[in-house]
Amino acid sequence: MHLARFPRIRLFPAPTPLEKLTNLSRFLGGPEIWIKRDDCTVVASGGNKVRKLEFLAGEAVAQGADTLVTQGAVQSNHVRQTIAVAAKLGMACAVLLEHRVETNDPAYLTSGNVLLDRLMGAAIEYRPGGTDMNAAAIAKGEELRAAGAKPYVIPGGGSNRVGALGYMSCAQELMQQADEMGLTIDLLVHATGSAGTQAGLVAGLHGINAGVRVLGIGVRAPKAAQEANVHRLANEVAEYAGMRGGVPREAVEANCDYVGPGYGQPTEGMREAVSLLARLEGVLLDPVYSGKGMAGLIDLIRKGVIGAGQRVVFLHTGGSVGLYGYQGFFEQGFAA
Ligand SMILES: *Cc1c(COP(=O)(O)O)cnc(C)c1O
Repeated sequence: MHLARFPRIRLFPAPTPLEKLTNLSRFLGGPEIWIKRDDCTVVASGGNKVRKLEFLAGEAVAQGADTLVTQGAVQSNHVRQTIAVAAKLGMACAVLLEHRVETNDPAYLTSGNVLLDRLMGAAIEYRPGGTDMNAAAIAKGEELRAAGAKPYVIPGGGSNRVGALGYMSCAQELMQQADEMGLTIDLLVHATGSAGTQAGLVAGLHGINAGVRVLGIGVRAPKAAQEANVHRLANEVAEYAGMRGGVPREAVEANCDYVGPGYGQPTEGMREAVSLLARLEGVLLDPVYSGKGMAGLIDLIRKGVIGAGQRVVFLHTGGSVGLYGYQGFFEQGFAA
């Protein structure tokens, strides 16, 4: 892969930190756990979408676009990061927020990411839960084009072959960093949703023959659907980047046992993971993605599925802004 072939706008100083979670490792008595801090990607409190947006915004600017259009759930981190990047690049931004999580909680509906979205000045519209949001965003783009704008429509989570290049790049960055530190990585664990992060990582690691297993912890779809989505996109981005032979199906592994009642619905495992990382490491996870991802990692360690001899890297994909949308849930835990 030769990623310099693709238009790209640098948005944060790479590499993001790779740190050892000494206290968590000791607490669990299991493997050595490291954390790759992709929550530290600078733009408007950061997160994994910034890596994708380096390539997506790069393509948008190369095409002469003046408006970024995207969509997500009400507390979408992707939407917040897209609005921030548009602001930084002097572009307009139009976003659609789906009422995907059924709730009347004012914190969820107005705090966290929503507050920041509004602060950064995007045009926000809402859609009912169950809307085909990618189709709605394309329609929004057409409407803006008819009104004279030059829109660039980004799919949910920034997960297409262009966005996934950001995580191919991360795969290269992580392996170079680990090599320099003398760190051998057995397993890379992270939360997987719209699939672009895992697709890029799996394709990128395969492309450089890293021999590192990747495990996505699902936050929404069941395992079969999630793995199929990741595999499809991994093959798309591999081909787009000029890799021959595609990505083997067995390189794509998702565990979707930690979703709980549904997307964005809190679980007790998430509560424990968020508070353990906060109290033992001073690391802030998020309720929708990285909290559930870490809950999965902790449970698999406790069950011995991930053995004590392993070296595990947890990719922190960001999202702690979303904690404010779940204030009531965490306060219940303090009271208990
Ligand atoms: C979007 C997101 C993810 C999932 O990444 P995908 O590329 O959509 O699979 C994980 N964690 C956080 C905090 C996110 O915002």
